[in-house]
Amino acid sequence: MKIAVLPGDGIGREIVSQALAVLNKLGLPMETAEAPVGGAGYEAAGDPLPEHTLALAKAADAILFGAVGDARYDTLPRAKRPEQAILGLRKALGLFANLRPAQVYAELAGASALRPEVVAGLDMLIVRELTGDIYFGQPRGMRDAGANGREGFDTMHYNEAEIRRIAKVAFDAARKRSKRVCSVDKANVLETSQLWREVVTAEAKNWPDIELSHMYVDNCAMQLVKHPKQFDVIVTGNLFGDILSDEASMLTGSIGMLPSASLNAQGRGLYEPIHGSAPDIAGKGLANPLATILSAAMMLRYSLGQAAAADRIEAAVKAVLRQGLRTADIYTEGTRKVGTEEMGAAVVDRL
Ligand code: NAD
Repeated sequence: MKIAVLPGDGIGREIVSQALAVLNKLGLPMETAEAPVGGAGYEAAGDPLPEHTLALAKAADAILFGAVGDARYDTLPRAKRPEQAILGLRKALGLFANLRPAQVYAELAGASALRPEVVAGLDMLIVRELTGDIYFGQPRGMRDAGANGREGFDTMHYNEAEIRRIAKVAFDAARKRSKRVCSVDKANVLETSQLWREVVTAEAKNWPDIELSHMYVDNCAMQLVKHPKQFDVIVTGNLFGDILSDEASMLTGSIGMLPSASLNAQGRGLYEPIHGSAPDIAGKGLANPLATILSAAMMLRYSLGQAAAADRIEAAVKAVLRQGLRTADIYTEGTRKVGTEEMGAAVVDRL
């Protein structure tokens, strides 16, 4: 198993090294190679996604990614900014499916902004299409609108093949979970969504063991805060998924706990925590490494065919939380505050 390790900027290196320690403990036949990305890529080679880094990512079975970004790069031209590295990797590797679990561990239910009984035990997965929709549709631009000044316009767009392939990812993921998929759209208003609903419904016939439901996106936004535990897998387009996945992540109240995966048609993928490079705490040993450790578990499950090893990591994370260990971001009275390294070491110990 070849893994490209791209720590990136800020807390990236601190959290990725803990995830690597966890992976190493498993004793699997694994080769890792590291390369700079984001601001670190710009410093090393004048490019957020240096050629060598991209080549390494392309040759790997999976990519373990930390985070990129720092205010000092905000004044660079767009093409040189750290976040271009993620967009470049998505494009070069055809990463069209974004998997974002939102799980609330019983021990952390108090960290949510919602009442603990609403979120305790929440375990859902949002499958977001990542390479189409209004973010990439043409035409787009700004133009003169005469007496009304300028106007901006974008094109929402999905074809049947794009919808079918993301639906398959969602049905397949549901098969490994509670076997329910809720497809989210705006079919009462949008043509794109009407096609979306037709294609997802047709594809569902190939997955007779999966229960499919449909929901309008505005209702889904409400249901996520009213009764989030009704969901197992949500599948949706790029724009709706962008918003709903951030909303769902906040149900957990702990950005330092949430992993993500972006997959291509061959099942290769990029695995990263959903949080950014947290420059405010970088280098202080305060960052929560669990989102990255859980991203490594997803990598084992979705790209490397090592579901049992993924289960072991997830069980070890639950065990250290049960033990009462907390980094500062999830600390509550009565628990024990630990730093990045101690948290990582505790997971390794449990393994
Ligand atoms: P952020 O996610 O980096 O941080 C938001 C807040 O959460 C901060 O207070 C931070 O300290 C805290 N936090 C984040 N991760 C944590 C962890 N593992 N443990 C403990 N606390 C944690 O978002 P931001 O501050 O808006 O952005 C900082 C930089 O990260 C920017 O340059 C932004 O562009 C970039 N960014 C990158 C990604 C990515 O690499 N995928 C995603 C989002 C933001």
